[in-house]
Amino acid sequence: MTGQERSEEKSEERIECVSLSPMREAVPAPPEYERVCVFGTGDMGRSLGLRLLQAGYGVMFGSRRPHSSSLLPHGAQVLGHAAAAQSARLIFIAVQREHYDFLVPLANQLKGKVLVDLSNNLRKNQYPEANAEYLQSLVPGAEVVKGFNTLSAWALQNGPSDANSQGEDISFRIMVSLANKVCPIVSLIMLSLCYLPGVLASFLQLYRGTKYRRFPDWLDSWMLCRKQLGLLSLGFAFLHVLYTLILPIRYYLMFWVTENTVSLIRENRTTEFDTTTAWRGDSYLSLGILGFGLYVLLGITSLPSVSNALSWKEFSFVQSKLGHLTLLLCTAHTYLYGWNRFLSSSIYKWYTPPGYMLCLVLPSVVLLLKLLLITPCVDRTITRIRQGWERGADQRNPKDSKPLIP
Ligand code: NAP
Repeated sequence: MTGQERSEEKSEERIECVSLSPMREAVPAPPEYERVCVFGTGDMGRSLGLRLLQAGYGVMFGSRRPHSSSLLPHGAQVLGHAAAAQSARLIFIAVQREHYDFLVPLANQLKGKVLVDLSNNLRKNQYPEANAEYLQSLVPGAEVVKGFNTLSAWALQNGPSDANSQGEDISFRIMVSLANKVCPIVSLIMLSLCYLPGVLASFLQLYRGTKYRRFPDWLDSWMLCRKQLGLLSLGFAFLHVLYTLILPIRYYLMFWVTENTVSLIRENRTTEFDTTTAWRGDSYLSLGILGFGLYVLLGITSLPSVSNALSWKEFSFVQSKLGHLTLLLCTAHTYLYGWNRFLSSSIYKWYTPPGYMLCLVLPSVVLLLKLLLITPCVDRTITRIRQGWERGADQRNPKDSKPLIP
C-alpha cells in the first residue's frame, strides 16, 4: 500500500469516526436539519420540543390555542393544528389518546405524514386495540409509528444536553440526581425542620411573656420528633457524601476527563486557570466537610450511651449551638454550590428555580430567626423568661403565675 493510499484510508476513517464525548451546554447546537411538528403543548410536548431544538431541528407546535400557548421552549413556533401539520413531514402526537379524535378532521393535511404516537395508557388492556392502531384507524392516510413513550417528560427536561443520550447517560443522571440533588436537599430541609420548632417555641414564649404555658400540641409533637428528624437528615447527608466520593471514580467521568484532555492536546489548546472557581470550589468543599463533621458529632451525641455521659450544659451546647452552626455551614455550602447561577436565566426550567435554590429558603429563614433571637435585647428577655420571669407578673394575681408545667 502506497503512502498516499494509506493517508486516504486514514482520512476516510476519520470521517466515519464519531466522537463519543457527550454534547455539553457550551457546545453550539448542530445546524438545523429540518422542521418537525409536535401536536400538544403539554409536559411531554414541550420537553420533547426542547430536546429536538437542542438537537438542531426546527420545531413547530400544533395547538388548540396557538395564541395563548405559554412556556414553550425558546426558538419554537406555534400554529393551529392544520397549519402546523403542513409545515413538517414528521409529527409527534403528544396528546392523550382520549383526545385523538381531533385528528379526524385533519385527515387531508396528515395524508402521507409520519405520525409518532407517544401515548401511554393508565393500565394494561385499557383499550381493545393498541393506541398506535387506533391512531392509524383514525388517520388511514398517514404512516403511524410508535416511539418515545418510555421516556418521561421529566427525564427529557432534566437530562443531559445530548439528545442522543442512552443508558450510560441516563444512569449517570439518576446517580447525579440522587447524589447531588435529592440527598443534600432532603438532608438540609430536614436539618432545618429539626431547628425550626425550637425557634418557633422561643418566639411563642417571647410573645406570651412566660414559659409556664403549654405549647400547642402540634409544636409539642414536632419538638419531640427532632431527634428522629436529625438522624434521618444525617442519613441523607451520609448518602450525599458517599455519592460525592464515588462519582469521580466512575468510568463515565474518567472517560470524559481523558477525552477532554486528549482533545486539548490534539488541538494544542489550553484552558486558563480560574482562581475564582478554584476558591469557590475549595470553600464549598471545606464547608461541606466541616458541616458533615459536626453533623456526625450531633448524631453521636444523640445516642443514649453518649448523651447519658454528658451534663445538660454540654448536651445543649452540642445540640443547640453546634447544631445551629452545622445548619449555617451546610447552608453556606449550598449557597456556594449555587454561587451566581441564579443570575443565569437558563437554569430556570419553565420559570421555576432549581431544587438547590428552593431548599435554601427554609434554612435561611431558620437562621435569620435564630439571628434575631440571639441579638442582645431579645436574648436577654428570652433568658429571663427561661429563668422563670413572667411579663406583668407583678400586677397579676400571684395565683395566675403558678406554673402549669411543674
Ligand atoms: P398533558 O400535559 O396533559 O398535555 C397534553 C396536551 O394535549 C395539552 O397540553 C393540549 O395541548 C393537548 N390537548 C388536550 N386536550 C386536547 C383535546 N381535546 N384536543 C386536542 N389536543 C388536546 O399530557 P402530557 O403529559 O404532555 O402527555 C402527552 C402524551 O404523551 C400522552 O399521550 C402521554 O401518555 C404521553 N407521554 C407522556 C409522558 C410524560 O412524562 N408526561 C411520558 C411518555 C408519554 P394544547 O393546549 O396545545 O392543544
